[in-house]
This record gives sequence, structure tokens and C-alpha cells, in this order.
Amino acid sequence: MNSLKNIGDCFPNKELEKVIGNATKEVSYILHGALEGKEVSVSGGTTLFEQRNIQAQANREAIYATADFMRARVNGEKVSFVVNRNINFTNVCYMGCRFCGFAKRKEDENAEWLSLEEVTARAQEAWDRGATEVCIQGGLHPSMPGTYYRDLILAIKTELPKIHIHAFSPFEIWYGSRKTKMNYRDFIADLKECGLDSMPGTAAEILDTEVRKKLTQNKLSTEEWTTIIRSAHSVGMPTTATIMYGHVDGPAHWSNHIALLREIQRETGGFTELVPLSFVHSDSPLYKNNPSQVRPGPTTEEVDLMHAVSRIMLNGFINNIQVSWTKLGIERAIQMLTRGVNDLGGTLMNESISRSAGSKHGQEITAFELCKAIKSMSRVPARRNTNYEILEIFQNHDPERLSPLVSRKGKNPLSFLDMFPEVVK
Ligand code: SF4
Repeated sequence: MNSLKNIGDCFPNKELEKVIGNATKEVSYILHGALEGKEVSVSGGTTLFEQRNIQAQANREAIYATADFMRARVNGEKVSFVVNRNINFTNVCYMGCRFCGFAKRKEDENAEWLSLEEVTARAQEAWDRGATEVCIQGGLHPSMPGTYYRDLILAIKTELPKIHIHAFSPFEIWYGSRKTKMNYRDFIADLKECGLDSMPGTAAEILDTEVRKKLTQNKLSTEEWTTIIRSAHSVGMPTTATIMYGHVDGPAHWSNHIALLREIQRETGGFTELVPLSFVHSDSPLYKNNPSQVRPGPTTEEVDLMHAVSRIMLNGFINNIQVSWTKLGIERAIQMLTRGVNDLGGTLMNESISRSAGSKHGQEITAFELCKAIKSMSRVPARRNTNYEILEIFQNHDPERLSPLVSRKGKNPLSFLDMFPEVVK
């Protein structure tokens, strides 16, 4: 086992040394290694994720402190976010993923498929509100031609050549490639030529065949997801990375998943961030139909560990760990800033995927509100673009105070801060 004496350089922080000293030998050995720059193995990652029981409090504190230390070393005190808009162009989909509360059938009352004009008008409205990005994803509509994806990009870029288009999950790429009979690489290269700037690494769920059979009937396999992501990176298309956890999965799956992302990143360098997505169970058929076999989302400890262990396992590989405020709510999301997180994602303006699955955390958080929440944690808000270039730092000023695009009917997502008015600038 490493002694603290030999790794003194890794412990400029006495508090961290003390907290790790309270952990068990096994956990402290893994954390020492990580702080020395060693990669945490799959079994080491599983051990860290397993510290979710009441009795493992001291181990968890050591994991959180290590993640926070690594975050501070790489990202400093800045907490970034992007001003963007989510556009879900259709909710019609027949893939039948069991966790999905978003998909509708064509004849359903609230089924929708936006015209290209409507998508472009929404992008224009976002641009006028200061958005630098539109994030576009949709269901796999059976009537959609494979060329729809390029038509959509071309329509937006014709009107808004400077907006960053972050669009199409690997499942949509799989669908479009099949419809056009193009291979993944050519299909993505063509979209890039049309103006696609980056892709969300969603539809990853858990990259494990047995788990995917239960979640998605393995329609998009782990191999296909990784091939599509590698294809994107090979044509210079950056992607994000995600993990959706807290259903029929556990620590070994999470560790394998994160280690696989690390392997891809070692080869391609194409991931910009990791976004852990907690499973929202309430309107999900997976949970509704099997409440005794499916967990109702991750526990509090699992959410904390997911962000912290991801930071530790991906240290030096993926240095942006984003928390999803739509999944957790902004109050829990800012707590993750002490668990290795350095990014709060986007303002979104219209969010419907989490909302359809039962999430109650609203559709938009304005840049002004994000800054207020970040400052309440004594961190420095920074507006970024999709590629993590910092565009504006809000140290001594705030963003313009805009009303949310969709009325919240009087609800205030920051009402929890009223309990601590003295810390809110
Ligand atoms: S998760 Fe996506 S692909 Fe699966 S059913 Fe829902 S919309 Fe369709």
C-alpha cells in the first residue's frame, strides 16, 4: 500500500489527507492511487461505487473529498453552463424502450412532429434570447425519411449559420443510417457537411448487454453505440457521454460503463463531458409494469457517488462532469458541485424528455437563476459554448434577467435559496 509520506505532493491539502485517513484500507488505497495519477481499475471503481450503505459514510466522505480535490485541480472554482434550447422535433417513436415515458404513437392525442419551419422558428427565438446552441433530438418516427436529419440541419443553418447544432443521439444515427443505407461514418460526415457541430452521447443507458436487453430489448447494442460514437469522433464530430442509472443496474455495471468510456476517450479524445442521468421512474413503463424488479431511481448516496466516482475514474480523460438539473432539480444539482461536478449543463428553455418520464423540475432555468444558484455555493459562474470555451465570467455582474419562455405558473425553482438569504449575492 502507498504511504502518505511517498505521495506528499498529492496532498497539499491536509484536510483531504485526514478525510482519506478515516476511510478503510481498501478505499484509501484506491484513492491514493488515483491521486498519484494511476487509473482506477474496473474492480477499484466497483469498490468505490459499492460504498452506498449507511455504514460506509467515512468511505463516501473520502471519495467526495477526492473528487472535489480533482475538480478544483482541473477546473478551478469556475462552474460553467451553456445558454441553449432543447427542441424535441417529434415524440412519435415505436422502438419501445421500456424506460421511456416520452414516446407516443402517431394516433395519440399529444403526438407531435414539428415542421422544419417550426423547428427553425424555435431556433431563431432561442438565438434572439442569447442561446449559442440548440440541442435537437426526437423519436424515431416511422414516416420520417432518412434524409430528414440533413434537411433539418440545413434548414436551421440557412437561417442561423452561427448557431451550434448539437443533435441526434446514436439511436437516431442508427435509424438514419439504416433508412439511407449509408454506413455510420458516411452518414455522420454528411451531416457534418450540412452543418451539424456535435452530437449528444445519449441512448447509452448502461453499456451492458444484459441490462440493455431489459431496457431497450438491445435494439441499439453496446457494440453499435460504441461504433457510432467512434465513427463520429473519427470524422471530427465531438460528442458528449452519458450514463442512465438507478433501474436494474448496479456498481459493477457502472464501473464497466465508465471504464469503457475511458477506453474510447483514450483512442479518440472525442468526448467533451460526461452527464450522469438518474432514472426517472414515475411515468416510465419499465417501473410501472415491474415495480418489484425495478428500482425507482438511484438513492441519494448513489447519485452522490455516481458524480464523484465518475470524476475520479475519468480524471485526466474526461475533465468535464456535468450534473443534470432536469433530473435532480436545481437544489440537488448544486450540491453535486461538491461531488466533482464543474458544469450545470444548459438553460434548455423547453425540456420534454425528462418531463414526460415524470420529472417535476421544470423546463427552463434562466442564465440569471443559474448564476444565482452557483454563487450561493461560493463558486464563479461562467457561460461557455458547447466546446467548453468560456465566453463570459460572471464574477462581478449578472446576466440579463429574462422571464422564462414557458410560464411556470408562479413556481420559483430557487425558492430553496430563500432559506439561506445571507449566502445569496
Ligand atoms: S428512448 Fe428514444 S428510441 Fe427509445 S422509445 Fe423513447 S424515443 Fe424511442
